[in-house]
Amino acid sequence: MKRKPVNSSRMPVYRDAGFELFDAETTKYAFSKETENERIPELYIYSRYRNPTVVAAEEEIMKLESCNWALLTQSGMSAIDTAVSVFQHAESSGPWLFFSEIYGGTLSYTESVLRTRRGLQVHSFYPVNDKYDLHEFERVIRDINPELIYVEAISNPMLIVTDIGKVIELAHKSDSKVLVDNTFATPLLCKPLELGADIVIHSATKYFSGHGNLTAGVLCGNDSAIMKDAIEYRKYVGHMISPDDAYRLQTQIQTFELRFRKQCQNTLRIVEMLKNHPVIRKVWYPGLPEHPTHSEALKLFEQRGYGAMVTFDFTGKSDNEKKKKRDSFVQSVSEKIKVIPSLGDPKTILMPVESVWGAKYPEPGLIRLSVGFEDSKELEKTIADALMHVE
Ligand code: PLP
Repeated sequence: MKRKPVNSSRMPVYRDAGFELFDAETTKYAFSKETENERIPELYIYSRYRNPTVVAAEEEIMKLESCNWALLTQSGMSAIDTAVSVFQHAESSGPWLFFSEIYGGTLSYTESVLRTRRGLQVHSFYPVNDKYDLHEFERVIRDINPELIYVEAISNPMLIVTDIGKVIELAHKSDSKVLVDNTFATPLLCKPLELGADIVIHSATKYFSGHGNLTAGVLCGNDSAIMKDAIEYRKYVGHMISPDDAYRLQTQIQTFELRFRKQCQNTLRIVEMLKNHPVIRKVWYPGLPEHPTHSEALKLFEQRGYGAMVTFDFTGKSDNEKKKKRDSFVQSVSEKIKVIPSLGDPKTILMPVESVWGAKYPEPGLIRLSVGFEDSKELEKTIADALMHVE
């Protein structure tokens, strides 16, 4: 029985694994076009290749990043795997250059997948005093001539902002491709594709979804040759997102701008409060003039905001005293601000930095807050009350 579409205002969830192809001729036609990447909009084959609900969510992301294509995957990590794998070929294997201050999972991926399993030559580029020296970067790319460069617009957890425009300019002079993870900054603060990036990646689990209820990733770009390779890789490796997650993403992303703006505003208020509090030793936030990359943030974000993540630590004569204050804070806020290893949720959540990164960061009492879009007065009160009980 042929069913007519109903008058739904949005793309429904198409859970079909395989789509009806009617006859031998249509089947042949659909498959021939699929491999040529001249896919027919109304003729779907198999949900691991392409799915209408997924395409609808991808269109939302294309609008946000102002780009020609976006491909959704089941997690941020599978988007990263797809993006970098597009540039891996049997006849050439690197070298690739990764900025060192990137998401821990991405770092582990470079080590255990790219280096150990695929045997790629992967170099790291380190910051000095929480800031990347781009003169040094220029020297490094001249030295090693990397095929691919990987960087995050705002790093985690010290919130280092990188002058992405300059990185791209220098990288393209030596024909290197530039991949930018824009998860923390989001297109509301900067659009690296407009600055010439080859691929932009997001963990859509975070601000795009914004509700902590799904995992998803996306890679976007403008170059159609890269898109074709990425479609092929996603299809054969099976990184495709599920239609149900794509549906929720499609819906939730419609409030992304509202949510993220409010999250940035709330963060500014929390930063102001933390900065002036006697038990807080230091606050890391790119919007503060004393942050090592404040000038990069001014240049890249042009005062659109500074993000919704803030890191801070506590005063104390010894490491133990600082950790005691951290623990007492975490305990006091625990009813309202939970320890959750993610970011971009509706409510403010926190991570004790040392519990995840160990001694990588010398300040033992560090806490990373992902600020939510709850009522700002209530949030300020929650944090102020907890700080009052810190001993
Ligand atoms: N990129 C950044 C900046 C992240 O913070 C994360 C996860 O926290 C990822 C990528 C990986 O995303 P996912 O957890 O959705 O796989």
